Amino acid sequence: MRKLIFMAGMAILGFGCRTGKEAADLMVINATIYTADSSFSTAGCMVVKDGKILDIGDYDALKDRYEAAHVVDAGGKAVFPGFYDPHCHFYHYGAGLATRADLSGASSFEAVLQRMEEFAARRPEGWLAGRGWDQNLWPVKEFPDNTELNKRFSDRPVILIRIDGHAVLVNDKALQAAGLNEKSKIPGGEVQLHNGKPTGILVDKAADVLKDLFLKEMTEGEAGEEELVHGIIQGQKNCFAVGLTTLADAGLKYSEVQLLQKLEKAGTLKMQVYPMLDWSEENLEAFVTKGVYRSDRLHIRSVKFYADGALGSRGALLLEPYADKSGYTGILTLSPDTFAMHCADALRYGYQVNTHAIGDSAIRLVLNTYAGVLKGKNDHRWRIEHAQVVHPADITVFRDFSIIPSVNTTHCTSDMGWAADRLGTDRVKSAYAYKDLLQTNGWLCNGSDFPVEQINPLLGFYAAVTRTDLQGNPPGGWQPENALSRREALLAMTLWAAKACFEENEKGSLAIGKAADFVILDQDIMTVPVEKIPLTRVTETWIRGERVF
Ligand SMILES: [Zn+2]
Repeated sequence: MRKLIFMAGMAILGFGCRTGKEAADLMVINATIYTADSSFSTAGCMVVKDGKILDIGDYDALKDRYEAAHVVDAGGKAVFPGFYDPHCHFYHYGAGLATRADLSGASSFEAVLQRMEEFAARRPEGWLAGRGWDQNLWPVKEFPDNTELNKRFSDRPVILIRIDGHAVLVNDKALQAAGLNEKSKIPGGEVQLHNGKPTGILVDKAADVLKDLFLKEMTEGEAGEEELVHGIIQGQKNCFAVGLTTLADAGLKYSEVQLLQKLEKAGTLKMQVYPMLDWSEENLEAFVTKGVYRSDRLHIRSVKFYADGALGSRGALLLEPYADKSGYTGILTLSPDTFAMHCADALRYGYQVNTHAIGDSAIRLVLNTYAGVLKGKNDHRWRIEHAQVVHPADITVFRDFSIIPSVNTTHCTSDMGWAADRLGTDRVKSAYAYKDLLQTNGWLCNGSDFPVEQINPLLGFYAAVTRTDLQGNPPGGWQPENALSRREALLAMTLWAAKACFEENEKGSLAIGKAADFVILDQDIMTVPVEKIPLTRVTETWIRGERVF
């Protein structure tokens, strides 16, 4: 009897009766685990219980102490903390997906058509769009023509965008809507013909004509809630497939947060989201004035402002005129006085302020406004989003007022072809200066800004490290003195990203007591030749001990 009581006690304490080992839910073995902790250590084994890391270390030491219900043999592969995107537009990405069928991975043209038929049933009117087909995955690896599209969707325009976005297949209805025919000549583009008739395949600038027309038509009608939900869930799935486990959603309306809350309640939102709120009456009333909001998947304690536009469209606010538009310095998109008032209010409610600022003038204004409110070093973690063109005289203000440079390394490699045209050869040296910002401030965070860029965070890692495009150009990297090391680039999308969202004590690295958010990659991004980094595939994604991909 006494023995029985003893054994029952052991079971309650979580020890396996027969083995004397402590019971766990999951053990990851045979892995190179990059913990991303302060010493940047690696481990061979990780033990998970109740969604958290119970232990981590050498397999030989842990195998005798724990008995796990489930064992994941990583096959010697590299394991990293779940990727954390500190600046993206998840909701709007999902909303975009809601208006287009996902054709990625379709293994034949017939499979593409089937997906379009399913999508058409959900979206019975107007333009019909899909994205992501790739004829290289099909039995016949050739561009299709639009015969079947015309047959199956005769009464509405259809556009199917290829995975790279450089080619589209459209039906005759869409060609008519765009006013294109066999005689159309579009510089920089091709209207493909067969026997003198358009096949429906349009390439480059000709594809753009149709894409632009579709976008124009789309903005006129908003997606319904059912579609939105479908798009967000699809977006979540896509994010899991590239290893993302937490996303900071940079700018949400109250109604958008409400929909995320609804999905969370329904149990369909598995992604962990850190929404930055638009400054609105509704958001103030529902969240800001009530303090930090925390639920299972949502963490709300920040607001988002916009100080200027973007550099490409010459909206970024510069101190000196654009090099390619004389006398013109860009656009200020806020009122400095109102902004300062809102910042003071945000501080009073304990809210983080994150402001989009790209040009050196906008950045100076935001830095000075923040400094006036924050007064000195602090732990409020206010951020400047993008921080693209920082005047060299202003860089220490980040450090002195504990302001976080929240950068996007893929913007650098997307913009490097024309950034010097806008800024001139001198000023461009202080643009996309991530290493300078990192060294002065001690840390920074790196987000993708998807869907402006692709969702895959490893592209941001690659851009940070190489400062080249995916073809490796320019050789040696663009302004390579501002490249980050792999270690810095990894921290910027894990631990430091979590820190930029007040979550570094629970996420961002793999340590005892932290969330079991992790990814397994098919190759080790810390050691493979740089040109192989973009080819890396995520084989598994786990959130709080649950496999989501
Ligand atoms: Zn953004």
